[in-house]
Amino acid sequence: MATVKLHNVNKVYDGGVHAVHDFTIDINDREFIAFVGPSGCGKSTTLRMIAGLEEISYGEFYIDDVLMNSAAPKDRDIAMVFQSYALYPQMTVYDNMAYALKLRKVPKAEIDRRVKEAAAILKLTPYLNRKPRALSGGQRQRVALGRSIVRRPKVFLMDEPLSNLDAKLRVAMRSEIVRIHNEVGATTIYVTHDQIEAMTMATRIVVMKDGFIQQIGEPNEIYQHPVNLFVAGFIGTPAMNFLYGKLENGVFTPNGSEQTIKMSDDQMSLLKNYVNHGMVYGIRPENLIFQDDERFERYKDYSFSMKVEIIELLGDILNLHGKVGDNKVIIKMPNKYAVKVGDTIKMAIELPYARFFNKTTTNAIVEGHNDYEEIEVTKSLDEDNVTIIAKEKKGLAKLFDKLSKKK
Ligand code: ADP
Repeated sequence: MATVKLHNVNKVYDGGVHAVHDFTIDINDREFIAFVGPSGCGKSTTLRMIAGLEEISYGEFYIDDVLMNSAAPKDRDIAMVFQSYALYPQMTVYDNMAYALKLRKVPKAEIDRRVKEAAAILKLTPYLNRKPRALSGGQRQRVALGRSIVRRPKVFLMDEPLSNLDAKLRVAMRSEIVRIHNEVGATTIYVTHDQIEAMTMATRIVVMKDGFIQQIGEPNEIYQHPVNLFVAGFIGTPAMNFLYGKLENGVFTPNGSEQTIKMSDDQMSLLKNYVNHGMVYGIRPENLIFQDDERFERYKDYSFSMKVEIIELLGDILNLHGKVGDNKVIIKMPNKYAVKVGDTIKMAIELPYARFFNKTTTNAIVEGHNDYEEIEVTKSLDEDNVTIIAKEKKGLAKLFDKLSKKK
């Protein structure tokens, strides 16, 4: 049983790189949380602060409501699984798993019980007497997990544990790790740059960019209701289509295009503050309905056409690439229609899945929230105040930098 809380956790490295800003999350017991984001966004730094391998510059970190900021790594009851899982080559699988417990002077019978239990969960029982070199990549990765499981930590931390495996094995290990997590039941934090891993494995996802949390939510919530353009573009393959354009006279005109896209009454009511402003129309490739699809009829009033420039055949799926004005567009559809490069095709927008974003703030436009009012409020803040706040922030960063250099 372990809850993990991070409240306004920050990391300022020596030299002033502010790698993590105000990281705040309450993680429930048994949750499987994924930190996902592009390289350099601060995922590993956050994980290493939780493990105690990196000092927390400021903010608070709790395990089971006990403040852990200054606890030594070994006192945190945390196990970490890395992508490079160096097993001891001269030891058997059994001894690799038992080693940490032997060091801790756990009684032999207890070690035996725990190793055999972990081996059963990991389906490694037949291999306990083998050396690592006689195992497959996936089996070795499971032994690495086993070394952590036998310790019965409160929290598992995994830093891109699958990135050294080939594509097929990675897919298999994804569901293996989820199964193992369900059986062991320990709170798990999993770092990955691979949004598919995050989507398929986690109970909740934390999407990060440039050291800031962008969104925390269940996978489908993040997929269906991304809070901004970054999240919308990062989660999902191919990425969501973004049509930059303008809303006027009840229609949306994509930049550089002669075509207009009709808007529904509901959409117009949602977007009433955005008329004549630049905005972004977001629609996922699978929510564009091809002209020959029987569902086309239903949304045909909301359709547009595109010349097919590239066709990607993925077996069951076809991705057609083209352009609408200045905007690149991809439609993803079942591989059962005859289309060739150069064809001009029609596609309809599956209205319930259309999303809209403020071009200036990049935030999603949602009911009951007006971004433009917020911008006005921020602008009207006393200029001096803004400067003072900026100075204070800079000062703080310098102070922490100095403090960490002193140590
Ligand atoms: P991610 O795991 O998301 O790829 P990291 O947490 O490794 O990102 O890095 C976040 C930022 O902190 C990056 O800009 C990286 O260059 C910087 N960084 C990481 N480690 C150090 C360090 N020891 N000293 C200074 N900067 C660092």
